[in-house]
Amino acid sequence: MIPYGRQDITQADIDAVVEVLRSDFLTQGPAVPQFEQAVSSYCGAAHAVAVNSATSALHIGCLALGLGPGDWLWTSPITFVASANCGLYCGAQVDFVDIDPRTYNMCPQALAVKLELAQREGRLPKVVVPVHLCGQSCDMQAIHALSQRYGFRIIEDASHAIGGRYQGKPIGCGAYSDITIFSFHPVKIITTAEGGMAVTNDCHLAQRMALLRSHGITRDPAQMTHASDGSWYYQQIELGFNYRMTELQAALGLSQISRLDDYVVRRHDLAKRYEALLADMPVTLPWQHPDGYSALHLYVIRLQSSKLTRTHREVFEALREQGIGVNLHYIPVHTQPYHIEHGQRGKRYPQAEQYYAEAISLPMYPTMTQADQQKVTAALKLVLAP
Ligand SMILES: *Cc1c(COP(=O)(O)O)cnc(C)c1O
Repeated sequence: MIPYGRQDITQADIDAVVEVLRSDFLTQGPAVPQFEQAVSSYCGAAHAVAVNSATSALHIGCLALGLGPGDWLWTSPITFVASANCGLYCGAQVDFVDIDPRTYNMCPQALAVKLELAQREGRLPKVVVPVHLCGQSCDMQAIHALSQRYGFRIIEDASHAIGGRYQGKPIGCGAYSDITIFSFHPVKIITTAEGGMAVTNDCHLAQRMALLRSHGITRDPAQMTHASDGSWYYQQIELGFNYRMTELQAALGLSQISRLDDYVVRRHDLAKRYEALLADMPVTLPWQHPDGYSALHLYVIRLQSSKLTRTHREVFEALREQGIGVNLHYIPVHTQPYHIEHGQRGKRYPQAEQYYAEAISLPMYPTMTQADQQKVTAALKLVLAP
């Protein structure tokens, strides 16, 4: 089976991890701050807080912004469930904003309409989480302008998007948001096995997230409520978690980030080839906004159903039968039973639902060969033949 995504692990990666295994620190050593430094300087953000997953980064990001019971978090229905669940973890309520039919990202016009209504009803969101689907940035300038008008905070879910750019600047630079989070799950652009990172330009937010990732405990006398009892002393000043990244993960991340730009270039080469190979097929190819440079985590095509005799599901399953590990990103979150039970019963997001009826993620990963790509497109051609 050609998978839809997979990690690339080199000898240098293996050596970096083995070196940590032989060192004094498996956790809470020097590699985590080094990796944080590498990510923050790559993105042009002032601070970075490494954690054990992007899900954890979303959770402590929301908490640092003060999200709690009685508040609302809004995100896109076309995302992984974690972008919405972080709101529920904080006791807030979650709602969704429909997608743009060209980029599949949160639609700023739909957001504006929903904000107007929410303002009249007195239930404006405290936090909005735009998701850079497939690695392409949302229209952050428009979303940021709305945040200024309606007073919400922004966490960019850039789980797909490290290595991408928006208006010429790296995603994560924070020009239009409070916090940006990345995922380092093995299918993502770079990996630490499990792992995530929150970046921000606000030192107060960075400090709060660093506390929340490790039990709410501080060893910094400046943060304590009274003078230290002695050199052993620490204080718990918040209710935090153990969301720490290990030294093994950070060493792997540091080794991987040195190849980040090459990976994204390789993904663009693959996309260009797909574009040529798929040109005459009844499918809609990914549209790239001229303001951005996508990290191309995913290559999503949409079937032009009116030109086909087979259904979306038949096409998907026929490809799987031929050894093509296609996938579907994502099942609209508002249709998940848990979210139906938590505020989404009867809610409709027509663009998201139309997308779900047509989308297929074709395999895309940096070690994919031309032969793999040929196999994918030949199988698709056969399956779509009238
Ligand atoms: C992968 C992913 C997450 C969660 O990442 P983890 O590191 O697995 O917790 C969140 N949001 C999106 C959009 C993702 O793709």
